[in-house]
Amino acid sequence: MGNTNGPVWVIAEQIDGRILAVSLQLIGQARKLADELGTSVEVVLLGDKLGGQPQPLFAAGADRVYLGDSPELAFYQPEIYTEIIVKLAQERQPEIVLIGSTARGRELAPLVAARLATGLTAHCIELVLDENGILEQIIPAYGGLLSITCPERRPQMATAATGVFPTPELDETKTGEIIPLEVPADLPRRIQTLEVVRQEPEGMPLESAPIVVAGGAGAGDVEGWHQIAELAKALNAALGCTRPAVDEGWAGLETMIGQSGKMVSPELYIGVGLSGELQHTVGIVGAQVMVAINNDPQAPVFEQVDYGIVDDCREFVPVLIDKIREYQEKQVAC
Ligand SMILES: Cc1cc2nc3c(=O)[nH]c(=O)nc-3n(C[C@H](O)[C@H](O)[C@H](O)COP(=O)(O)OP(=O)(O)OC[C@H]3O[C@@H](n4cnc5c(N)ncnc54)[C@H](O)[C@@H]3O)c2cc1C
Repeated sequence: MGNTNGPVWVIAEQIDGRILAVSLQLIGQARKLADELGTSVEVVLLGDKLGGQPQPLFAAGADRVYLGDSPELAFYQPEIYTEIIVKLAQERQPEIVLIGSTARGRELAPLVAARLATGLTAHCIELVLDENGILEQIIPAYGGLLSITCPERRPQMATAATGVFPTPELDETKTGEIIPLEVPADLPRRIQTLEVVRQEPEGMPLESAPIVVAGGAGAGDVEGWHQIAELAKALNAALGCTRPAVDEGWAGLETMIGQSGKMVSPELYIGVGLSGELQHTVGIVGAQVMVAINNDPQAPVFEQVDYGIVDDCREFVPVLIDKIREYQEKQVAC
């Protein structure tokens, strides 16, 4: 695709007709970029029984919504969704396409980028235009920040996680154009989602928890991990983790905090046995008070937190749990 100065696109996502927060947050960013480029914001929304659902998209800043509303789109179908989006992109020639780093978005974005023969930057934490109107897609890398651009190919494509960008103020009076999308009959159907079984999240949601305890590789093993989980329970906190805890199978991917995980902004964050790599700490910038427990006094995490405890977490955490419980019992007795 050539350089078109076309619209800024957001591929929005909904579950049961509820627009995801990340889609509204990306529309907020798209609005800023489109205003600077002097172009419009267009949103693609696919699903079934969407009825009046586009209104929040307009309220967040969309000018135009392409709405694919069909029983065939009730579940996310990677091949069909890709086909519809690619065909529309070839017609509309968007300058920029933004997609949420959700489970779907992480699959859909590279499928679309590959078909459009363009670049894609995953898990961006900032999106700005350079002096030539080229999108700088900023990610944490090599211990700092890296700006990636796609100067030749179009669209410029980027994904970002929930909470990276603020949710824009919704202007409920704003309306826009809805363009219905036909679902072509000859779509590929090699992969089909027949049923979706939802797993209810355990414990407190990370994104809204006032206290977050995050564990890392320093947990050592499952037993060490259980201690960290116990600390979270004692504090009535949400339990998060770093990448190695997911790789070891101690924690689920949905609890990973950072560039490719969740963004958290608790009143209190306690990082246990983690080094403070930027890919993790970018997810905790919204935390008010930060504490780290690490047995290496040189660990980079100590430069980023308010309070540092240099100790072996496997010895310190059980003592801390006992002290918290003692305190809590005293409070109840008073
Ligand atoms: C593109 C990309 C995206 C990524 N996205 C994410 C992301 O979203 N989230 C994320 O977390 N990571 C992410 N990573 C991985 C990230 O770069 C780091 O590798 C990871 O965060 C390190 O996890 P850690 O701190 O638990 O492990 P390590 O870096 O290995 O640190 C372990 C720490 O534990 C300490 N320790 C060891 N034993 C003990 C003990 N007994 N008591 C106390 N302390 C102890 C050590 O001193 C060390 O500081 C990403 C990487 C890439 C390349």
